[in-house]
Amino acid sequence: MRRGRRSPMRRRRPKGPPPQHDRAHRALQRAHRLMENGDYVNAADIFERLARGAHDRGMLRQAPRLYLQAGRAHMLAGDSDRGADLLRQGLNIFAEAQRWPQLHQAGQRVMDELEQWGHTDLAAEFDGWLKGILPEKPEAYQHAGTPARRPQLPVHCSSCGGPIRADDVEWLDATTAECPYCGSGVR
Ligand SMILES: [Zn+2]
Repeated sequence: MRRGRRSPMRRRRPKGPPPQHDRAHRALQRAHRLMENGDYVNAADIFERLARGAHDRGMLRQAPRLYLQAGRAHMLAGDSDRGADLLRQGLNIFAEAQRWPQLHQAGQRVMDELEQWGHTDLAAEFDGWLKGILPEKPEAYQHAGTPARRPQLPVHCSSCGGPIRADDVEWLDATTAECPYCGSGVR
């Protein structure tokens, strides 16, 4: 006697991130690559789009760094108005969330880079803005959670390819930092 056939297994969607995330991730990889190859105009567009998307979806850990990267790309492409605007938007998210250590660190880097690119006036403008907004006591923005001895980190995130700087990441534990662009653990 023939046994009743088992009902076919219902097809399941393969596990993993949803397609929208996937697309954004590929765009992020592409933007990092363009930035590294000096194609700042196209990198700027993608970073800006990703920053707005992240911002709209409330991804406030990634959005500021994406805005900052978009701002850098515009500056390097020669559009300093647009660049400064996006740099401001990135820093503003830190300020609104009162993430003082991140604001201080990212703000410092922005000013250094602006000086380096010859935008002394803009650097002074950011300096004034930061001084007016950061708490007076530096203890409030010294980085908590940074391991006393920072372990060596890879130069690039293995997931999105973004540049990793030991002085510009948040540490998840003594050996793992968080990629500021995609949120992957970097160690
Ligand atoms: Zn990453």
